[in-house]
Amino acid sequence: MKTIIEPFRIKCVEPIGMSTPAEREAALVRASHNLFRLRAAEITIDLLTDSGTGSMSSTQWAAMMLGDESYSGARSWERFEAAVKDIFGFAEVIPTHQGRAAERILFSTVLKPGDVVPSNTHFDTTRANIEATGAKAVDLLIAEGLQPGLVHPFKGNMDVARLEALIAETGRERIPLVMLTITNNSGGGQPVALANVRAVSAACRRHGIPFYIDACRFAENAWFIREREEGQAGRPPLEIAREVFALADGCTMSAKKDGIANIGGFLCTNDPDLARRLRDLLILTEGFPTYGGLAGRDLDAIAVGLYEALEEDYLRYRIVSTKYVADHIDALGVPIVRPAGGHAVFIDARAMLPHIPPLAYPGQALACEMYRVGGIRSCEIGSVMFASKDPATGAELPAPMELVRLAIPRRVYTQSHMDYVVEAIGEVNARKDRLRGVRIVEQAPFLRHFTARFEPLA
Ligand SMILES: *Cc1c(COP(=O)(O)O)cnc(C)c1O
Repeated sequence: MKTIIEPFRIKCVEPIGMSTPAEREAALVRASHNLFRLRAAEITIDLLTDSGTGSMSSTQWAAMMLGDESYSGARSWERFEAAVKDIFGFAEVIPTHQGRAAERILFSTVLKPGDVVPSNTHFDTTRANIEATGAKAVDLLIAEGLQPGLVHPFKGNMDVARLEALIAETGRERIPLVMLTITNNSGGGQPVALANVRAVSAACRRHGIPFYIDACRFAENAWFIREREEGQAGRPPLEIAREVFALADGCTMSAKKDGIANIGGFLCTNDPDLARRLRDLLILTEGFPTYGGLAGRDLDAIAVGLYEALEEDYLRYRIVSTKYVADHIDALGVPIVRPAGGHAVFIDARAMLPHIPPLAYPGQALACEMYRVGGIRSCEIGSVMFASKDPATGAELPAPMELVRLAIPRRVYTQSHMDYVVEAIGEVNARKDRLRGVRIVEQAPFLRHFTARFEPLA
């Protein structure tokens, strides 16, 4: 078989930041060892996130020129709504400026203190928006999903037996909705099987609980279903996506992921009464219900991007190129979450750096070192992001995993960029025993990873 190539050619280029080791060391100190605090110009390969960082196609740029900036009822809105209804199939479509706005509007409308919202794994903004209402976010991932080295085709699946047990013990009336994140971002970019979506949906219907999908990477999830699930081989990703959403009552979506847009999101529901209440809140903080905080041209870019994300050549390249990075890091002997996820490769920092205790943040130490060596920006997804508090003592408890995420922007980097990343990781790995942990010297009460300041331990 021939090499699976990038199914596009490059017609617009953007220079990337080249720097010396001394410049990078100075930048790290200035940024208090928090890579979110770096200037983008100081980064050579930016794998911080796949969110809003994709390259738009010539078709998307052309669609932006058609942007209708009318305050209400714009043509751009009509095209956006038609695309979302065609793919997602929900009755009500509410545009938002990004995914978390959809989450905030949904949760602040349906949740009250003491409520419980189960998911396979809540993403960080999802959890924060649930907890900001006084409700509790509960993760019910299958046990296999928490074992980084274990190979399983659908490590994003929800444990449906635990969902049933939680409903029995909490009571249906305290669970206003169940969420399912496809693919599972925090747990390793791992897919959820169609069979699991069906099982979660059936459990929700049995108990009369609304079922919402966090749909950010719905196209990548559809590809994994096609490639890995029995009876699904060769099915068009669009058809799989439609079947998944037909099992749910609504969704939240960040168009910065599988919308291949630089900004945007939406919220869908089949409940017209709820939609009315959601739109009331939308008008207060986001904008009129036909633009929701977005420019008309953004709506058009999303309307095109949602379909491009479902193209077979694109998805094949996308998933194979992520696997390429994972396989080469694996070949260095660096422990990773296996199999590779759709949008990212996760290094298991706890296994790679066993001499650094979880609360000395091995993931943060590794992310800083990769920047030092290669100007590579990655993201800690471990105890900095997800530590919890012991309810009795208030002491910090480590997250279940200490991962470093190399998120791969869509259609942005070539294979040689990724070869450079692998070489830099090889260099870090060769002297991993000399890495030291970090401590937090300043932090915010919510989502502390964005702004915390760190100091390397002596
Ligand atoms: C990015 C993301 C969100 C939030 O979307 P934003 O557009 O960043 O606000 C929610 N859930 C998941 C799974 C995500 O990946």
